[in-house]
Amino acid sequence: MKFIIETYGCQMNVADSELIISILENYKSLQPEEMFEYTEDINQAQIIIFNTCSVRENAERRVLGRISNEISRKQRDRSILIGVVGCMAQRLGEKLNLKSNKRGIYPQIDFVAGVDQYEKLPEIIQECKKKHKFIAQTTFNYDENYTDLLPSRTNKLNAFVTIMRGCNNFCTYCIVPYTRGRERSRPVEEILKEIKQAGEEGYYDVTLLGQNVNSYRYEDINFPKLLQRANQIDSIKRLRFITSHPKDLSDELIEVMANSEKVCEHIHLPVQSGNNEILKRMNRNYTAEHYISTIQKLRNAMPNIAITTDVIAGFSGETEEQFMDTFNLMKEIRYDFAYMFKYSERSGTKATEFKDSVPEKERLARLQRLIDQQTIITTEKYKQKIGCVEEIYVESFSRKNANLLSGKTRDFKITVFEGDESLIHSFVKVKIIDAVGWTLKGKLIADD
Ligand code: SF4
Repeated sequence: MKFIIETYGCQMNVADSELIISILENYKSLQPEEMFEYTEDINQAQIIIFNTCSVRENAERRVLGRISNEISRKQRDRSILIGVVGCMAQRLGEKLNLKSNKRGIYPQIDFVAGVDQYEKLPEIIQECKKKHKFIAQTTFNYDENYTDLLPSRTNKLNAFVTIMRGCNNFCTYCIVPYTRGRERSRPVEEILKEIKQAGEEGYYDVTLLGQNVNSYRYEDINFPKLLQRANQIDSIKRLRFITSHPKDLSDELIEVMANSEKVCEHIHLPVQSGNNEILKRMNRNYTAEHYISTIQKLRNAMPNIAITTDVIAGFSGETEEQFMDTFNLMKEIRYDFAYMFKYSERSGTKATEFKDSVPEKERLARLQRLIDQQTIITTEKYKQKIGCVEEIYVESFSRKNANLLSGKTRDFKITVFEGDESLIHSFVKVKIIDAVGWTLKGKLIADD
């Protein structure tokens, strides 16, 4: 049975999709003709799985739109199964299927599996197929860490390694603790084994994943110690991690980052707001002053570190003055890049109880002011790279210009340059000669 997975949302979902492919492909209790086989061609797929995101309402709407497109395929071939996994599956469960619940969305959805139920997917799919009945399994299992499972990687060059699952922070705007459950860290040795193997298979750029990697702890190993050990693995060349929570980013971590040659000079550190009252309402557990001092420490230890962030404009109760604190903080810090959003309520989160929402028009206007300022800063930051020599991990031909190769600097900037196809999957030195938008242009320089 051929299956395809369409993945939405964050890198955690990308990693989970790779895990699901591995679980299905390695499921042996089937007749050979019934074995699961991954395909990237939806026309060949008999099982279509949507790995979904619930962070924003928009993300859910997009997936529902895609599911509705695929329902017409199912109407032509009734043997096709449609399944939903991930955060939206966890949030809505059986409500996704009208047959089992009158408030449902699509009766054509055949199965729903929550984030801790992926190991049961082979049985769920089989039962669904044999009995022609809808199945939803969304119980949390806080012991589930998908131990001893190696993902089937779909990305050819970069490996994402999940080090922990879930989140305990309950930021008041965020649905994640409700869709991913409580925090649990994977065993150290298992993570290190997975990183080593990824490197041996040619995935030289490894990103460690977790909702809040800074609070990783397994027995007496915290995140800095894990990073230190990962840095000693010979088979990899670059190490990254997302996402960091400012309240848990320790001096110890900064020291390890600065002294570990494989750890790249980039950190994504979501600030969300530059105003202490709003940060408190968001339940972020740090102040703007603490955040700024953390950035200073990072820059003192690694002067060339690139810093990126997430920001919310127009959170409930945000006044113009409070918004200006965010605007000014971004101006002061000068991020390399920022993911900026207007606040949008997620039902089920604490923030929906706040009754003083900022009018939609004002949220959008504030967002636009942040975007305008950040665009100027990002452009200036990229221009500052002109004349620098950068190490590039060559990933592919450029999507915009097939005559150019494309890769990333250590500080996560896309760089394009002329070169031979044989350079793909290698590390080269490139002199930056221009910056256009958010892409660097470079010239290959010969090795000494
Ligand atoms: S740290 Fe906050 S924003 Fe991040 S996943 Fe947890 S609750 Fe959501």
